[in-house]
Amino acid sequence: MLASAYVDAVSRSGGDPVILPVVEDPAQAERLVASVDGIIFSGGADLTPGAYGEEIWNETVEIDSVRDRSDMALAKAALSSGKPVLGICRGAQLLNVVLGGTLVQDLPTQWEGAGEHNGGVWHRIGVEQGSVLFRLYGSDSLSVSSFHHQAVKDPARDIRVTARAADGVVEAFEYGQHVLAVQFHPEKMALSDPSWLALFQYFVGMSR
Ligand code: MN
Repeated sequence: MLASAYVDAVSRSGGDPVILPVVEDPAQAERLVASVDGIIFSGGADLTPGAYGEEIWNETVEIDSVRDRSDMALAKAALSSGKPVLGICRGAQLLNVVLGGTLVQDLPTQWEGAGEHNGGVWHRIGVEQGSVLFRLYGSDSLSVSSFHHQAVKDPARDIRVTARAADGVVEAFEYGQHVLAVQFHPEKMALSDPSWLALFQYFVGMSR
């Protein structure tokens, strides 16, 4: 059921969704990436802090080692393929880490002045002019549904942060011309507001 919103968003945007399996072999990850036109990394549990050289910070950090190994292999393959990549929530965090960045493990205890970001709360984000989000929505301020307790800490080299919440938390970034990542949930927002399909239409269009 969790996957259905992602699948629906791709279908409603003119794409044909394919769900990739959990992989163990990097070579298999490369073959699977080669078989599709673009890759979305979806939301989910917290990424293993060891992937960016940290110990687990506190009891709020919940990891799934099997999925982490699979996602890391698929993300490395996707990023080196040059194909369009869209990261959503955990997917955004994953891309930052695979590119060499780090994460805030728990915003409430590690981010000074953190606002509310969990439980589907809506908050505003400030959007950089000239970014993909700005071009798609024509505004430097958007309201988004937020469901995360982690976020980008140190952005990886060459990542362009393109949106932040009022408390400074990174809410979107771009990397090169083909990688877009958002910390919020356009697939869920599109269920009630079809204008959020624009992100997926953009991704499907790039993938053609
Ligand atoms: Mn947020």
